[in-house]
Amino acid sequence: MTTIVVLGAGVSGLTCALQLAKRGDVAITIVAKHMPGDYDVEYTSPWAGANVLPMAVEKDSRWEKRTWPILKHLAKEVPEAGIHLQKARVYRLAKDEPTDFKGPLDDSLFATDPWYQKLMDDFRELPANELPHAGVRSGCEFQSVCINTAIYLPWLLGQCVKYGVVFKRAVVSHISEAANMSHTGKKADIVINASGVLASRLGGVMDATVQPARGQIVVVRNEAPNNMMTTSGCDDSDDEIVYSMTRAAGGGTVLGGTYQLGNWDPNPEPNVAVRIMKRAIELHPELTGGRGIEALSIIRHGVGLRPYRKDGVRIEKERIDGTWVVHNYGHAGWGYQGSYGCAEAVVDLVDEAIAEMKPAKRQSKL
Ligand SMILES: Cc1cc2nc3c(=O)[nH]c(=O)nc-3n(C[C@H](O)[C@H](O)[C@H](O)COP(=O)(O)OP(=O)(O)OC[C@H]3O[C@@H](n4cnc5c(N)ncnc54)[C@H](O)[C@@H]3O)c2cc1C
Repeated sequence: MTTIVVLGAGVSGLTCALQLAKRGDVAITIVAKHMPGDYDVEYTSPWAGANVLPMAVEKDSRWEKRTWPILKHLAKEVPEAGIHLQKARVYRLAKDEPTDFKGPLDDSLFATDPWYQKLMDDFRELPANELPHAGVRSGCEFQSVCINTAIYLPWLLGQCVKYGVVFKRAVVSHISEAANMSHTGKKADIVINASGVLASRLGGVMDATVQPARGQIVVVRNEAPNNMMTTSGCDDSDDEIVYSMTRAAGGGTVLGGTYQLGNWDPNPEPNVAVRIMKRAIELHPELTGGRGIEALSIIRHGVGLRPYRKDGVRIEKERIDGTWVVHNYGHAGWGYQGSYGCAEAVVDLVDEAIAEMKPAKRQSKL
């Protein structure tokens, strides 16, 4: 049996642990400072919307392509996972021409004729009479999902427990410490590093190319039909963005947001919060029945730090102090919508590591 320690209980660590545990013949321990149920600025996953809006360019779209069918299945067949189907609208602003609609997120979501129209069901370009105002030059709509992270993360944890994963709360200062934290008492054969934005501060990793992309949100009780949307930018600031979505099962409506690189500030900024709410009401006055932002019923203000990595996600293995470490961090703003694709790649790397360990194990018996 292979002994594995997963460092991190965000969506990345939980999904990897679950996919590995389902295969059997592994003893898995998840070690984490923060667990589902916690709200802390160092723990990104609870703060996400979260929805599926494909962001990668097509050549890097493997993670999103492999994840989408699984999230769609969960939305349709597993209601207790807290995911529901929702139409998504992507608006391309006239002011963002002629940059092929690359807004502050610098992704291909806003491209005209996007690759993902082949992936997402019911894709259609919106006719002019369905665009919200004159500043929106064009837009599209497709079937997506919205994940209530307050339900989905505990659901993932429960699934892991069902398949035998053991959870341990601990703070690790060096990645090598994790190898000695298996519940079996044995040294781990493999450590999976799913430490998110804290990969920038973790001994043995200290990835200086990881930094937060700070996202401020307002979660409200108000709901409106067809409100899951985003725009290619906004007039207020280059590091502010516009999106909204209503979470499944009474999770409220999430209004966003910001994308502030290098900013670790955990405190919601009041002026930004007002701008977030104003922009949401401009696009969806029906959220408050035409009564303006004063009629928004606020559940909470929040800040989450997307784990941005300059060269994109790191999914690779390396030996650190004699133990195989498989890295899976740096998912920026797409950690949910790429979670199963990334976990699949992690499983492949775990298999490679096991294969490479076998000769060493045989030799040690001689
Ligand atoms: C406002 C906002 C909106 C977003 N919207 C979306 C969306 O709509 N769709 C989408 O797909 N994604 C979205 N994201 C991005 C998504 O939330 C992240 O990509 C994802 O949550 C990253 O998950 P993770 O598991 O890698 O990191 P985290 O959730 O941060 O988990 C890291 C884990 O590692 C543990 N850890 C780290 N270091 C240590 C240590 N030294 N010792 C012990 N434990 C440690 C932590 O305690 C934690 O358990 C959004 C993010 C934000 C902030």
